[in-house]
Amino acid sequence: MKKTILTGDRPTGQLHLGHYVGSLKSRLKFQNDYDTIILIANIQALTDNFDNPKKVSENILEVLKDYISVGLDPNLVTFVLQSDISEIAELTVLYSNLVTISRLMRNPTVKSEIIEKKNKFSNDLITLGFLGYPVSQAADITAFMADLVPVGEDQAPMLEQTIEIVKKFNNIYGNILKVPKIYISDVPRLVGLDGKSKMSKSIGNTINFSDTTNIIKNKIMSMYTDPNRIHKNDPGNVEGNPVFIYHNIFNSNKEEVKDLESRYRIGRVGDVEVKEKLFKVIEEFISPIRERRLSLEGKDKYLFEILKSGTKRGRDIASKTLYNVKNSMDLNFLEN
Ligand code: ATP
Ligand code: MG
Repeated sequence: MKKTILTGDRPTGQLHLGHYVGSLKSRLKFQNDYDTIILIANIQALTDNFDNPKKVSENILEVLKDYISVGLDPNLVTFVLQSDISEIAELTVLYSNLVTISRLMRNPTVKSEIIEKKNKFSNDLITLGFLGYPVSQAADITAFMADLVPVGEDQAPMLEQTIEIVKKFNNIYGNILKVPKIYISDVPRLVGLDGKSKMSKSIGNTINFSDTTNIIKNKIMSMYTDPNRIHKNDPGNVEGNPVFIYHNIFNSNKEEVKDLESRYRIGRVGDVEVKEKLFKVIEEFISPIRERRLSLEGKDKYLFEILKSGTKRGRDIASKTLYNVKNSMDLNFLEN
Protein backbone atom coordinates (compact mmCIF):
# COMPACT_ATOMS: atom_id res chain seq x y z
CA MET A 1 0.00 0.00 0.00
CA LYS A 2 1.17 3.50 -0.84
CA LYS A 3 2.02 5.92 1.94
CA THR A 4 -0.03 9.09 2.20
CA ILE A 5 0.91 12.72 1.68
CA LEU A 6 -1.26 15.50 3.00
CA THR A 7 -0.58 19.12 2.34
CA GLY A 8 -2.51 22.15 1.20
CA ASP A 9 -2.92 25.85 0.77
CA ARG A 10 -5.25 28.58 1.91
CA PRO A 11 -7.35 29.97 -0.98
CA THR A 12 -6.55 33.56 -0.11
CA GLY A 13 -5.09 34.45 -3.50
CA GLN A 14 -3.30 32.92 -6.43
CA LEU A 15 -0.30 30.69 -5.96
CA HIS A 16 3.21 32.01 -6.49
CA LEU A 17 6.87 31.05 -6.85
CA GLY A 18 7.19 30.65 -3.06
CA HIS A 19 4.57 27.90 -3.15
CA TYR A 20 6.40 26.28 -6.01
CA VAL A 21 9.83 25.99 -4.43
CA GLY A 22 8.58 25.43 -0.88
CA SER A 23 5.92 22.82 -1.48
CA LEU A 24 4.52 22.27 -5.00
CA LYS A 25 7.86 21.00 -6.30
CA SER A 26 7.93 18.29 -3.61
CA ARG A 27 4.33 17.36 -4.37
CA LEU A 28 5.24 16.93 -8.04
CA LYS A 29 8.20 14.77 -7.11
CA PHE A 30 6.10 12.47 -4.94
CA GLN A 31 2.77 12.32 -6.79
CA ASN A 32 3.56 9.01 -8.49
CA ASP A 33 4.75 7.21 -5.38
CA TYR A 34 2.46 8.51 -2.65
CA ASP A 35 -1.28 8.65 -2.30
CA THR A 36 -1.27 12.45 -2.47
CA ILE A 37 -4.13 14.37 -0.88
CA ILE A 38 -4.17 18.13 -1.33
CA LEU A 39 -6.44 20.20 0.84
CA ILE A 40 -7.80 23.58 -0.17
CA ALA A 41 -8.07 25.06 3.31
CA ASN A 42 -11.00 27.44 2.93
CA ILE A 43 -12.02 27.25 6.58
CA GLN A 44 -8.51 28.02 7.76
CA ALA A 45 -8.45 30.90 5.26
CA LEU A 46 -11.41 32.41 7.13
CA THR A 47 -9.36 32.71 10.33
CA ASP A 48 -8.09 36.03 9.05
CA ASN A 49 -10.67 36.66 6.33
CA PHE A 50 -13.87 35.90 8.23
CA ASP A 51 -15.33 39.25 7.21
CA ASN A 52 -14.58 38.62 3.53
CA PRO A 53 -15.86 35.14 2.64
CA LYS A 54 -16.13 36.02 -1.07
CA LYS A 55 -12.38 36.50 -1.26
CA VAL A 56 -11.95 32.93 -0.06
CA SER A 57 -14.65 31.28 -2.20
CA GLU A 58 -13.50 33.10 -5.32
CA ASN A 59 -10.00 31.73 -4.92
CA ILE A 60 -10.90 28.04 -4.61
CA LEU A 61 -10.93 27.31 -8.34
CA GLU A 62 -8.01 29.69 -8.89
CA VAL A 63 -5.87 27.56 -6.60
CA LEU A 64 -7.09 24.37 -8.27
CA LYS A 65 -6.15 25.82 -11.67
CA ASP A 66 -2.69 26.61 -10.29
CA TYR A 67 -2.27 23.00 -9.09
CA ILE A 68 -3.15 21.48 -12.42
CA SER A 69 -1.13 24.05 -14.36
CA VAL A 70 2.10 23.32 -12.48
CA GLY A 71 1.64 19.64 -13.30
CA LEU A 72 -0.24 18.02 -10.44
CA ASP A 73 -2.18 15.29 -12.18
CA PRO A 74 -5.88 14.98 -11.22
CA ASN A 75 -5.64 11.27 -12.10
CA LEU A 76 -3.02 10.77 -9.40
CA VAL A 77 -3.87 13.41 -6.81
CA THR A 78 -6.98 13.71 -4.62
CA PHE A 79 -7.98 17.37 -4.28
CA VAL A 80 -10.27 18.03 -1.31
CA LEU A 81 -12.19 21.05 -0.07
CA GLN A 82 -11.90 21.52 3.68
CA SER A 83 -15.38 22.97 4.28
CA ASP A 84 -17.03 19.87 2.83
CA ILE A 85 -15.28 17.51 5.20
CA SER A 86 -16.98 18.31 8.49
CA GLU A 87 -15.10 15.43 10.13
CA ILE A 88 -12.08 17.78 10.22
CA ALA A 89 -14.05 20.30 12.30
CA GLU A 90 -15.12 17.54 14.69
CA LEU A 91 -11.56 16.32 15.07
CA THR A 92 -10.47 19.90 15.80
CA VAL A 93 -12.91 20.08 18.71
CA LEU A 94 -11.83 16.68 20.02
CA TYR A 95 -8.12 17.64 19.91
CA SER A 96 -8.64 21.05 21.48
CA ASN A 97 -8.32 19.67 25.01
CA LEU A 98 -4.86 18.37 24.22
CA VAL A 99 -3.19 21.73 23.77
CA THR A 100 -2.84 24.66 26.13
CA ILE A 101 -3.34 28.32 25.25
CA SER A 102 0.20 29.13 26.37
CA ARG A 103 1.62 26.44 24.08
CA LEU A 104 -0.29 27.93 21.14
CA MET A 105 0.97 31.42 22.02
CA ARG A 106 4.55 30.07 22.04
CA ASN A 107 4.23 28.65 18.51
CA PRO A 108 6.81 30.79 16.62
CA THR A 109 4.69 31.12 13.46
CA VAL A 110 1.60 32.10 15.44
CA LYS A 111 3.75 34.51 17.45
CA SER A 112 5.05 36.33 14.38
CA GLU A 113 1.60 36.41 12.79
CA ILE A 114 0.24 38.01 15.97
CA ILE A 115 2.90 40.71 15.76
CA GLU A 116 2.01 41.30 12.08
CA LYS A 117 -1.67 41.63 12.97
CA LYS A 118 -0.93 44.04 15.81
CA ASN A 119 1.08 46.22 13.43
CA LYS A 120 -1.67 46.16 10.82
CA PHE A 121 -4.77 46.66 12.94
CA SER A 122 -5.01 48.74 16.06
CA ASN A 123 -7.74 46.63 17.66
CA ASP A 124 -7.39 43.15 19.11
CA LEU A 125 -7.91 40.64 16.32
CA ILE A 126 -6.66 37.45 17.92
CA THR A 127 -9.76 35.30 17.65
CA LEU A 128 -10.21 31.83 19.07
CA GLY A 129 -10.28 30.53 15.50
CA PHE A 130 -6.95 32.12 14.66
CA LEU A 131 -5.19 31.00 17.82
CA GLY A 132 -6.51 27.49 17.34
CA TYR A 133 -5.51 27.04 13.73
CA PRO A 134 -2.52 24.82 14.55
CA VAL A 135 -5.04 22.43 16.14
CA SER A 136 -7.17 22.47 13.00
CA GLN A 137 -4.02 21.66 11.02
CA ALA A 138 -3.46 18.66 13.27
CA ALA A 139 -7.00 17.63 12.35
CA ASP A 140 -6.28 18.10 8.62
CA ILE A 141 -3.17 15.96 8.76
CA THR A 142 -4.50 13.17 10.96
CA ALA A 143 -7.92 12.98 9.27
CA PHE A 144 -6.19 11.42 6.26
CA MET A 145 -3.63 9.45 8.31
CA ALA A 146 -0.81 11.26 6.53
CA ASP A 147 2.73 9.88 6.66
CA LEU A 148 4.44 12.83 5.04
CA VAL A 149 3.70 16.56 4.94
CA PRO A 150 5.69 18.58 2.35
CA VAL A 151 5.54 22.23 3.40
CA GLY A 152 7.59 25.40 3.60
CA GLU A 153 9.71 26.15 6.65
CA ASP A 154 7.07 28.46 8.15
CA GLN A 155 4.94 25.37 8.68
CA ALA A 156 7.52 23.46 10.74
CA PRO A 157 6.15 24.72 14.09
CA MET A 158 2.67 23.58 13.00
CA LEU A 159 3.91 20.11 12.33
CA GLU A 160 5.73 19.98 15.66
CA GLN A 161 2.49 20.91 17.33
CA THR A 162 0.61 18.24 15.37
CA ILE A 163 3.12 15.61 16.45
CA GLU A 164 2.70 16.67 20.10
CA ILE A 165 -1.08 16.39 19.81
CA VAL A 166 -0.86 12.98 18.14
CA LYS A 167 1.51 11.63 20.78
CA LYS A 168 -0.63 12.96 23.61
CA PHE A 169 -3.74 11.52 22.01
CA ASN A 170 -2.15 8.11 21.50
CA ASN A 171 -0.86 8.14 25.07
CA ILE A 172 -4.25 8.76 26.59
CA TYR A 173 -6.65 7.01 24.22
CA GLY A 174 -4.54 4.27 22.61
CA ASN A 175 -2.53 4.00 19.46
CA ILE A 176 -5.01 5.39 16.96
CA LEU A 177 -3.26 8.23 15.16
CA LYS A 178 -0.22 8.17 12.90
CA VAL A 179 2.79 10.34 13.74
CA PRO A 180 3.47 12.35 10.55
CA LYS A 181 6.85 13.46 9.21
CA ILE A 182 7.61 16.85 7.74
CA TYR A 183 9.31 17.18 4.35
CA ILE A 184 11.12 20.46 3.78
CA SER A 185 12.40 21.18 0.28
CA ASP A 186 15.83 22.50 -0.71
CA VAL A 187 14.33 26.02 -0.69
CA PRO A 188 12.50 26.12 2.63
CA ARG A 189 11.55 29.80 2.39
CA LEU A 190 11.65 32.03 -0.67
CA VAL A 191 12.21 35.74 0.03
CA GLY A 192 9.70 38.23 -1.32
CA LEU A 193 10.27 40.67 -4.20
CA ASP A 194 10.58 43.38 -1.54
CA GLY A 195 13.38 41.56 0.27
CA LYS A 196 11.03 40.62 3.15
CA SER A 197 11.78 37.21 4.56
CA LYS A 198 8.85 35.42 2.90
CA MET A 199 7.09 35.70 -0.42
CA SER A 200 3.48 35.68 0.71
CA LYS A 201 0.02 36.33 -0.71
CA SER A 202 -1.00 38.50 2.19
CA ILE A 203 2.07 40.74 1.88
CA GLY A 204 1.63 41.04 -1.91
CA ASN A 205 5.34 40.60 -2.69
CA THR A 206 4.78 37.69 -5.07
CA ILE A 207 5.22 36.51 -8.64
CA ASN A 208 2.10 34.51 -9.46
CA PHE A 209 1.72 31.75 -12.04
CA SER A 210 -1.05 33.80 -13.61
CA ASP A 211 1.04 36.97 -13.99
CA THR A 212 1.38 38.20 -17.58
CA THR A 213 4.78 38.75 -19.21
CA ASN A 214 4.47 42.49 -18.63
CA ILE A 215 3.53 42.16 -14.99
CA ILE A 216 6.48 39.84 -14.39
CA LYS A 217 8.81 42.24 -16.16
CA ASN A 218 7.59 45.20 -14.09
CA LYS A 219 7.81 43.24 -10.86
CA ILE A 220 11.36 42.06 -11.53
CA MET A 221 12.64 45.40 -12.78
CA SER A 222 11.45 47.04 -9.56
CA MET A 223 12.73 44.29 -7.25
CA TYR A 224 14.61 45.13 -4.10
CA THR A 225 18.37 44.64 -4.49
CA ASP A 226 21.34 46.01 -2.57
CA PRO A 227 20.01 49.26 -1.04
CA ASN A 228 23.54 50.64 -0.54
CA ARG A 229 24.45 50.44 -4.19
CA ILE A 230 23.69 53.75 -5.89
CA HIS A 231 25.74 53.65 -9.13
CA LYS A 232 26.32 50.68 -11.36
CA ASN A 233 30.07 50.85 -10.76
CA ASP A 234 29.67 50.69 -6.97
CA PRO A 235 30.66 47.28 -5.59
CA GLY A 236 27.47 45.43 -4.65
CA ASN A 237 26.34 42.83 -2.17
CA VAL A 238 25.34 39.44 -3.58
CA GLU A 239 24.63 37.67 -0.29
CA GLY A 240 21.04 38.13 0.84
CA ASN A 241 20.24 40.05 -2.36
CA PRO A 242 16.85 38.72 -3.59
CA VAL A 243 17.78 39.12 -7.27
CA PHE A 244 20.74 36.79 -6.82
CA ILE A 245 18.80 34.44 -4.55
CA TYR A 246 16.28 34.00 -7.39
CA HIS A 247 19.06 33.62 -9.98
CA ASN A 248 20.59 30.84 -7.91
CA ILE A 249 17.27 29.01 -7.60
CA PHE A 250 15.79 29.42 -11.07
CA ASN A 251 18.67 30.05 -13.49
CA SER A 252 20.05 26.75 -14.75
CA ASN A 253 22.94 28.55 -16.49
CA LYS A 254 25.26 28.43 -13.47
CA GLU A 255 28.14 30.03 -15.37
CA GLU A 256 26.02 33.07 -16.16
CA VAL A 257 25.08 33.39 -12.49
CA LYS A 258 28.72 33.12 -11.37
CA ASP A 259 29.77 35.72 -13.94
CA LEU A 260 27.01 38.15 -12.86
CA GLU A 261 27.89 37.64 -9.20
CA SER A 262 31.58 38.33 -9.63
CA ARG A 263 30.96 41.39 -11.82
CA TYR A 264 28.34 42.69 -9.33
CA ARG A 265 30.79 42.38 -6.43
CA ILE A 266 33.32 44.65 -8.16
CA GLY A 267 30.84 47.07 -9.71
CA ARG A 268 31.09 45.89 -13.31
CA VAL A 269 27.44 45.17 -13.99
CA GLY A 270 24.30 47.21 -13.51
CA ASP A 271 21.16 46.05 -11.71
CA VAL A 272 19.30 46.41 -15.01
CA GLU A 273 21.33 43.69 -16.75
CA VAL A 274 21.07 41.32 -13.77
CA LYS A 275 17.33 41.86 -13.60
CA GLU A 276 16.79 41.52 -17.35
CA LYS A 277 18.52 38.14 -17.27
CA LEU A 278 16.43 37.10 -14.29
CA PHE A 279 13.26 38.19 -16.07
CA LYS A 280 14.15 35.94 -19.02
CA VAL A 281 14.65 32.94 -16.74
CA ILE A 282 11.43 33.46 -14.74
CA GLU A 283 9.40 34.13 -17.89
CA GLU A 284 10.68 30.88 -19.40
CA PHE A 285 9.71 29.01 -16.25
CA ILE A 286 6.25 30.53 -15.91
CA SER A 287 5.09 30.77 -19.54
CA PRO A 288 4.13 27.07 -20.01
CA ILE A 289 2.35 27.14 -16.61
CA ARG A 290 0.51 30.32 -17.61
CA GLU A 291 -0.51 28.74 -20.92
CA ARG A 292 -1.93 25.64 -19.23
CA ARG A 293 -3.71 27.93 -16.81
CA LEU A 294 -5.30 29.89 -19.67
CA SER A 295 -6.48 26.63 -21.24
CA LEU A 296 -8.43 25.92 -18.01
CA GLU A 297 -10.36 29.20 -18.19
CA GLY A 298 -14.06 28.55 -18.73
CA LYS A 299 -13.71 24.91 -17.67
CA ASP A 300 -15.32 25.38 -14.27
CA LYS A 301 -17.52 22.33 -14.71
CA TYR A 302 -14.46 20.10 -15.20
CA LEU A 303 -12.76 21.70 -12.18
CA PHE A 304 -15.86 21.28 -10.01
CA GLU A 305 -16.01 17.60 -10.89
CA ILE A 306 -12.37 17.09 -9.88
CA LEU A 307 -12.95 18.80 -6.55
CA LYS A 308 -16.26 17.06 -5.90
CA SER A 309 -14.99 13.55 -6.52
CA GLY A 310 -11.76 14.22 -4.59
CA THR A 311 -13.68 15.63 -1.63
CA LYS A 312 -15.99 12.62 -1.61
CA ARG A 313 -13.01 10.27 -1.41
CA GLY A 314 -11.38 12.46 1.26
CA ARG A 315 -14.55 12.42 3.29
CA ASP A 316 -14.67 8.63 3.28
CA ILE A 317 -11.14 8.46 4.65
CA ALA A 318 -11.77 11.17 7.27
CA SER A 319 -14.97 9.56 8.49
CA LYS A 320 -13.13 6.31 9.22
CA THR A 321 -10.55 8.24 11.22
CA LEU A 322 -13.25 10.12 13.12
CA TYR A 323 -15.04 6.87 13.90
CA ASN A 324 -11.84 5.38 15.38
CA VAL A 325 -11.05 8.56 17.30
CA LYS A 326 -14.53 8.78 18.84
CA ASN A 327 -14.51 5.11 19.64
CA SER A 328 -11.24 5.39 21.51
CA MET A 329 -12.55 8.42 23.43
CA ASP A 330 -15.67 6.55 24.53
CA LEU A 331 -17.84 8.82 22.42
CA ASN A 332 -19.73 5.95 20.83
CA PHE A 333 -22.31 5.82 23.62
CA LEU A 334 -25.41 5.42 21.47
CA GLU A 335 -23.79 2.98 19.12
CA ASN A 336 -23.39 0.28 21.76
P1 ATP B 1 -1.00 33.72 3.28
O1 ATP B 1 -0.23 34.98 3.13
O2 ATP B 1 -2.47 33.84 3.02
O3 ATP B 1 -0.69 32.96 4.54
P2 ATP B 1 0.94 32.20 1.84
O4 ATP B 1 1.47 32.90 0.63
O5 ATP B 1 1.75 32.21 3.10
O6 ATP B 1 -0.49 32.81 2.08
P3 ATP B 1 -0.06 29.57 2.36
O7 ATP B 1 -1.32 29.13 1.68
O8 ATP B 1 -0.10 30.02 3.78
O9 ATP B 1 0.59 30.73 1.46
O10 ATP B 1 1.07 28.45 2.23
C1 ATP B 1 0.86 27.24 1.55
C2 ATP B 1 2.12 26.42 1.52
O11 ATP B 1 3.13 27.04 0.74
C3 ATP B 1 2.76 26.17 2.90
O12 ATP B 1 3.29 24.87 2.92
C4 ATP B 1 3.86 27.19 2.96
O13 ATP B 1 4.91 26.78 3.81
C5 ATP B 1 4.31 27.21 1.50
N1 ATP B 1 4.86 28.54 1.19
C6 ATP B 1 4.15 29.68 1.07
N2 ATP B 1 4.98 30.72 0.82
C7 ATP B 1 6.24 30.21 0.77
C8 ATP B 1 7.54 30.77 0.54
N3 ATP B 1 7.71 32.07 0.32
N4 ATP B 1 8.63 29.94 0.56
C9 ATP B 1 8.46 28.61 0.79
N5 ATP B 1 7.26 28.03 1.02
C10 ATP B 1 6.16 28.81 1.01
MG1 MG C 1 0.72 31.42 5.09
